[in-house]
Amino acid sequence: MSILNYYMKLATIPQLVANALCDRSCMSVHELPYSVYLHIPFCKIKCTYCAFNTYVNLDDLIEPFVRALINEIAIIGAGRPGHRVDTIYLGGGTPSVLMPEQLHRIISAIRKHFNVSPDAEISMESNPSDLDVAYMTAVRQVGINRLSIGMQSAHLPELDLFARRHDHPTVVRAVDAARRGGFDNLNLDLIYGIPNQTLEMWRESLNAMLSLTPEHISLYALGIEDGTPLKNWVETGKLPAPDDDLAADMYELASDMLDAAGYEQYEISNWAKPGHECRHNLQYWRNLPYPGLGPGAHGYAAGVRYHTILSPQRYIKALERIDTSLEFPRTPAVDHAVVVDRSAEIAETLMMGLRLTQEGISRETFRQRFGVDVLEHFPELAGRFAAHELVTVDEHMVRITRRGRLLSNMIFRELV
Ligand code: SF4
Repeated sequence: MSILNYYMKLATIPQLVANALCDRSCMSVHELPYSVYLHIPFCKIKCTYCAFNTYVNLDDLIEPFVRALINEIAIIGAGRPGHRVDTIYLGGGTPSVLMPEQLHRIISAIRKHFNVSPDAEISMESNPSDLDVAYMTAVRQVGINRLSIGMQSAHLPELDLFARRHDHPTVVRAVDAARRGGFDNLNLDLIYGIPNQTLEMWRESLNAMLSLTPEHISLYALGIEDGTPLKNWVETGKLPAPDDDLAADMYELASDMLDAAGYEQYEISNWAKPGHECRHNLQYWRNLPYPGLGPGAHGYAAGVRYHTILSPQRYIKALERIDTSLEFPRTPAVDHAVVVDRSAEIAETLMMGLRLTQEGISRETFRQRFGVDVLEHFPELAGRFAAHELVTVDEHMVRITRRGRLLSNMIFRELV
């Protein structure tokens, strides 16, 4: 693509988003199609950096959990029967611990209670150790059409540090199995900023990943989360603390390498071949509705933000029967729910929208949604943030700059 075409394309994207709202007669965002998130809270091994709501050694609960999840789908569906669903995302945890027959029952339940678009994006996260051709073929036949594989690193010492179940040859075989099984939309995850990781090791992991030609790439800076073995090792001096400057150099290196390989960065941590942006995650970043189901899932629908019970045992108990007496999107599995007021919705929309490096925040779309110009609400965007070249502001758009991406957490903190 020529530079001129590239910039013309960037200029067109926000207008398309504005049109998407206007084509629907500027309807409330809560009437727009849903993205449904399903949290599968089981893993075979707990990784040393992981603070997600996920559990090991609970295989006996998997089938009761599937039955409870199907009941939860029925309850949520009863609140908005036939509402259009454009994307479904099975995350976790490790959804690839489920059998194809269980995945089939879950997806069929969503199809029964909602109007799932014929071209819906249906994604599943997976562990490379679980993927062979027979499994991939069966998963593809269930209707799952986008697969995310947790590669994390190409280096065995780094994978061992994380207690991952795989080595790099396993990832190569998993990608091959997914391709043979019919997947033409693959994401690979990598982690950077790992203790003792050098820039050269990071370059090798990136090259190993690029040689597998995924359609989509997610890169995450390693977080040292409370309650994890990794945090304990850093606190007791067994591991060096992450080096923020080196992590920033790794991010810059990745941006250059992925750009050279033909990937477009469309979000702070995400790159895609043109047309392969993750539609489900775009729904989050546009602050549009996404019912969340499963233990510890977060959801946002009908102006309510909520999360569900963390414990799989309590979740299963709460959903033994289909109880539709609560007001949508609440179910017996919802642990906490708050109505999002206008000022919180504005702040969330700004923070999420700034993550979208190309699309940014359309001033027109923002005005349609909130009746106010984003710069009137956040004058510092056009003031000190633009002066320090952290964001760019023009007549139509507000976007974070390449420099601003490195300081995004500070920008979000100061704005909201
Ligand atoms: S596989 Fe994923 S969800 Fe499971 S423990 Fe590891 S990082 Fe956490």
